[in-house]
Amino acid sequence: MKFLVFNTLTGVKEEVIPMEEGKIKLYTCGPTVYEYAHIGNLRTYIFEDVLKKSMEYIGLKVKHVMNITDVGHLESDSDTGEDKMSLGASREKKTVWEIARFYEDAFFKDCKLLNITEPIIVCRATEHIEDMINFIKILEDKGFTYVANGNVYFSIDKYPNYAKLANLSLEELEAGSRVDIDPFKKNPLDFVLWFTNSKFSNQIMQWESPWGTGFPGWHIECSAMSMKYLGDRVDIHCGGVDHIPVHHTNEIAQSESAVGHKWVNYWVHGEFLVLDNGKMSKSSGDFLTLSRLIEEGYGPLDYRHFCLQSRYRKPLMFSFESLTDSQVAFKKLKSRIKNIVDGNTNEEIINKSKIIEYQDKFATEIGNDLNIANAFTVLVEVIKDNILNNTEKVYLIEDFDKVFSLNLTLGEEIINSDNIDEEYIQTLILERNKARSEKNWVRADEIRNILLKSNIELVDSRDGTIWRII
Ligand code: AMP
Ligand code: ZN
Repeated sequence: MKFLVFNTLTGVKEEVIPMEEGKIKLYTCGPTVYEYAHIGNLRTYIFEDVLKKSMEYIGLKVKHVMNITDVGHLESDSDTGEDKMSLGASREKKTVWEIARFYEDAFFKDCKLLNITEPIIVCRATEHIEDMINFIKILEDKGFTYVANGNVYFSIDKYPNYAKLANLSLEELEAGSRVDIDPFKKNPLDFVLWFTNSKFSNQIMQWESPWGTGFPGWHIECSAMSMKYLGDRVDIHCGGVDHIPVHHTNEIAQSESAVGHKWVNYWVHGEFLVLDNGKMSKSSGDFLTLSRLIEEGYGPLDYRHFCLQSRYRKPLMFSFESLTDSQVAFKKLKSRIKNIVDGNTNEEIINKSKIIEYQDKFATEIGNDLNIANAFTVLVEVIKDNILNNTEKVYLIEDFDKVFSLNLTLGEEIINSDNIDEEYIQTLILERNKARSEKNWVRADEIRNILLKSNIELVDSRDGTIWRII
């Protein structure tokens, strides 16, 4: 079975040919944990989850590695702006370490609610500093670096084809990156591998290194950790489109300079979720979270379903109106499935060839650069089929749901005392704690009231907040 993806590197849709038969090495750039993930970030993680599950569906074994950026990096990809982790820490009067763990936990809670499966390996940047230092040493030994003003830079002039991923000229890349002129860079597109000369006097996360006490630049962590866990060649590397011109371009330059050969075969990027009033940005603080959607009456899987309705390679416009339309469609779909589930009397599976035909059709759609909209059409054909019996239909729906992960045969997502969604409650408790630490009492009360409507009372004790059914 062919599996095609759009490869940013070549600019065309290509068949994925694994380096090792039947196996895929997948690396996806993970979250920067200084704030809640916004629903734009989550769109990218949903796309990556669907990509992974689609490959698994057609029988590939996927080794998936994802980093956690818990080192304080600068707001801009181009080594400028404020330090993100310190921003979070001063905003919430916590240590940078507390901030990192808190938002990492919050991120995985969101993922769980969205049925995003955790990668086999999740690696924190702060636990791989030595790997990064060793990586920089290799680059230094091979002559790709220079030290200026206490910082170690990667010299992009030493790496031919620097702009190949973005498919732009160096001038275009430079114009697009709005780099502040750093007088110590030989080329404005050079980037820092190791800082010893931080412009922030309160830089807390610091480590010893051959170049002095300091901290790594952002891009190096993905190269170093990817190589540690996946070796020096990777099948597929993913992220959002914003990573193409700087982060992934820099990852390629440093990785291929270190190993001396092609590093990643397929670069697959998810387009942005956009709001009617523009881009959503974590650093500006103007963004929507999953908890906000839940609080507005949408289930996490309503959001997953919404994301699945559009191609990952197209920008997706978010509005509450379109989310509501998608929620209504999802409810209808689930109610049609419920009738089938209710009518399932565990009959014998007799139409094996018809089942295989549908499975092939489904696999062809997901394998056509994740044509999930068409995969949904196959699902609807199954629902409407008048030859298959209900048991066969349920079998196929559950089979397709390995990719959709929408709990299609499980009924509605409702919170009540018989059907308590602990993850959801914990997410709201975390959000309320955050609101309280920021003295945002209005929000804290709102959250208490949302839960009260579901007959769940919050009790603040010395050991933290607990909940009980009333
Ligand atoms: P960050 O935590 O900022 O490093 O971003 C995590 C992931 O979300 C990255 O793969 C980004 O490319 C992606 N991303 C950031 N903003 C958006 C957005 N508005 N829509 C979709 N993906 C996004
Ligand atoms: Zn990365």
